[in-house]
Amino acid sequence: MHAITYDSPKSLAQALSLLTTAGEKARVLAGGTDLIIQMRAGVRKPEQIVDLKEIPELQMIAFSSQDGLRLGAAVCCARITEDAVLKQHYPGLVEGAALIGSDQIQSRCSVGGNLCNGSPAADTTPALIALGAQCVIVSAKGTRTVPVEQVVTAPGRTVLQPDEILVEFRIAAPKGHSSDCYQRFIPRNEMDIAVVGVGAAVTVEGGKFTAARIGLGAVAATPLLAKAAGDSLVGKSVSAESIAAAAVLAQQIATPITDMRGTAEYRKHLVGVLTRRVVAEAAERAKAK
Ligand SMILES: Cc1cc2nc3c(=O)[nH]c(=O)nc-3n(C[C@H](O)[C@H](O)[C@H](O)COP(=O)(O)OP(=O)(O)OC[C@H]3O[C@@H](n4cnc5c(N)ncnc54)[C@H](O)[C@@H]3O)c2cc1C
Repeated sequence: MHAITYDSPKSLAQALSLLTTAGEKARVLAGGTDLIIQMRAGVRKPEQIVDLKEIPELQMIAFSSQDGLRLGAAVCCARITEDAVLKQHYPGLVEGAALIGSDQIQSRCSVGGNLCNGSPAADTTPALIALGAQCVIVSAKGTRTVPVEQVVTAPGRTVLQPDEILVEFRIAAPKGHSSDCYQRFIPRNEMDIAVVGVGAAVTVEGGKFTAARIGLGAVAATPLLAKAAGDSLVGKSVSAESIAAAAVLAQQIATPITDMRGTAEYRKHLVGVLTRRVVAEAAERAKAK
């Protein structure tokens, strides 16, 4: 066992300074529900842990009907699932957060950690992709904003440099009749990793889709934006036919692997099933607004 320094800075500036000094030896921790398991398994061996939980910017939930949502990256999923405003405006994101682990895990784990861990099967990421979330990433050198679908570059890898922190997600305010939905398939009722996860966010006006985005999880090396599938819906009536056509396009960009939880063929089939379900459900929710 090697020595580990643990810091729990109270400001973003302090955290960034610690990361700048420690370089690649440091690793940030939000809930620790991935990182601590990886450290126990010897997969990651940081010499310095920088805990993000005490930093106010990373604990923010701020919504306005003009500017939309600013969600701190270290907000735990339990706060998300209990938040009435989030349930009203971003039910798909809440559904993703509510599926992670158990109550105990949700009281620690964060949406930022779910993304930055780099798993293609992370449950909140397809919902964030569907919502067009932008990631605000900060280092001592400055700030950059990256669309959420560009953050994960390979399993366990992201665009984040060792001195960078994902501070918050920015999500536009839902316009008019808009809503979202996330569903995943797992072979048992809970505490499992998605075999396939699909998120959809749509706007419906006069019975037609006027905007649509679809995010896919666990069907490629990284979470995916199914752009052609979402775009195909725009201008079309909300119907079983238009939704089925979008589902076929979503299936076409999936490049799943076969593993112990499902074959590639099975996963492709599930992309079609789940895409049809989440788009239809998001449209129903949007119409009801
Ligand atoms: C029993 C159990 C069940 C689980 N079930 C699920 C599930 O159903 N679905 C699912 O998707 N996941 C599941 N997970 C995995 C895990 O809980 C989630 O991925 C969780 O969202 C990770 O968040 P965290 O805050 O704990 O991340 P941490 O473990 O703190 O961090 C994860 C990684 O991200 C980095 N990181 C964290 N925050 C930031 C930031 N703000 N900026 C830069 N880098 C950052 C860390 O350095 C680390 O590499 C489960 C885990 C357990 C133990």
